[in-house]
Amino acid sequence: MILKGVPAEVCDNCGEYYLSDTVTETILERAERAITNGAEIEILRYVVAA
Ligand SMILES: [Zn+2]
Repeated sequence: MILKGVPAEVCDNCGEYYLSDTVTETILERAERAITNGAEIEILRYVVAA
């Protein structure tokens, strides 16, 4: 999985980092493809990190 350097945004209210809807969609699309290729473990790691 190549998901390093995913752009994160900072919440104006609490200062927490989060992923924008666009980025989340992109990740999910990539994840679906990766799952098809048998890369489930890598995806789980990424989701936890996010
Ligand atoms: Zn917030």
